[in-house]
Amino acid sequence: MKLEEYWKKRDFEKTREPKGNEKTDRGNIYVIQKHQATHLHYDLRLEMDGVLKSWAVPKTPPTESGVKRLAVQVEDHPVGYADFEGKIPEGQYGAGTVEIWDKGQYVLKSRKENKLVFEIKGHKLKGVYCLVRFKGKKNWLFFKKK
Ligand code: MN
Repeated sequence: MKLEEYWKKRDFEKTREPKGNEKTDRGNIYVIQKHQATHLHYDLRLEMDGVLKSWAVPKTPPTESGVKRLAVQVEDHPVGYADFEGKIPEGQYGAGTVEIWDKGQYVLKSRKENKLVFEIKGHKLKGVYCLVRFKGKKNWLFFKKK
């Protein structure tokens, strides 16, 4: 199962984050959660393969083309995480506050091992975006296409 890394990092007795072991399929969820942890970042998540594929973006996600953001791929999250907002307690993984920054759906245009092209239908982000892997396994660039 893909969520093992997610489960391993968290103590569900202590955090209210969803355990999400049930298989859910809600369509093509797109969400960005603003996560004020040790460092403020934005967690971009796309529902894919029954989980939320996730990337941590250290700077504000681009609303216009011409801005490229580093997006570091992190562990898959359960689909139910798309609704999560609140506090992750001190001492727990990702301790801090999570709020939904933008949410909607996406339409996948193409998917290759090192490149995803998708149309985001959110409130803050709208249009065709790319994720391109550029170095190693986890480092991607996230930008608006045109
Ligand atoms: Mn995060």
